[in-house]
Amino acid sequence: KKIIIAIDGYSACGKSSTAKAVASKLNYRYVDTGAMYRAVTLYFLENYVDQTNPKAVAKALSNIEITFHHNEKTGKSDTYLNGLNVEDKIREMEISQNVSEVSAIKAVREAMVEQQQKMGKSKALVMDGRDIGSVVFPNAELKVFMTADFDVRAERRQKELFDKDQLVDLEEVKENLKKRDKIDTTREESPLIRPEDSEEVDTTHMFFEEQVDQIVR
Ligand code: C5P
Repeated sequence: KKIIIAIDGYSACGKSSTAKAVASKLNYRYVDTGAMYRAVTLYFLENYVDQTNPKAVAKALSNIEITFHHNEKTGKSDTYLNGLNVEDKIREMEISQNVSEVSAIKAVREAMVEQQQKMGKSKALVMDGRDIGSVVFPNAELKVFMTADFDVRAERRQKELFDKDQLVDLEEVKENLKKRDKIDTTREESPLIRPEDSEEVDTTHMFFEEQVDQIVR
């Protein structure tokens, strides 16, 4: 039976890499919803969209098309914004610094959730984010809530950035995670919560393969 697997949790708990590996083991589709909010943020910044102006936000959203395409070279799925590959750009600190504010806008969430729900029509899907089990797919057959100790999260994220040639001070990474956690958990629109019917996976002391196997099992 094909199902929907919803993976939620705080920033840098290893959601994306774990979700990707689970999807590949099950031969399911993987969708990184954080990438979608990051792509919207990139568009807003590049086009100087006034976030406080609902008309400007609505117009911008109607001009945004986000798609995912398989990259032959890396074997991964890349994020495209209006036909352009923005995979590297959306992972930069400037986007991380602004994404939580943009994600708190009601119209932005509505537009993204609508697209995400369409992707779930055929099931066989692993989706990760902040509101997947609570809002996007409240009936998902499996809900996972990933956690990890704060310092571990910060170190993992710093290493990930380093691997992409971005040298970021550990303190700066920590500040960014703290800020995003705060906005993501306290915003009015679908704040990050742990769904009651979710399985918690604390990855602090786990090896990557263990995390993946536990969810697959
Ligand atoms: O998953 P990632 O860390 O790339 O997500 C970036 C930001 O996008 C989060 O900090 C959060 O503000 C927002 N987000 C969200 N809802 C989701 C996925 C991401 O609000 N489903």
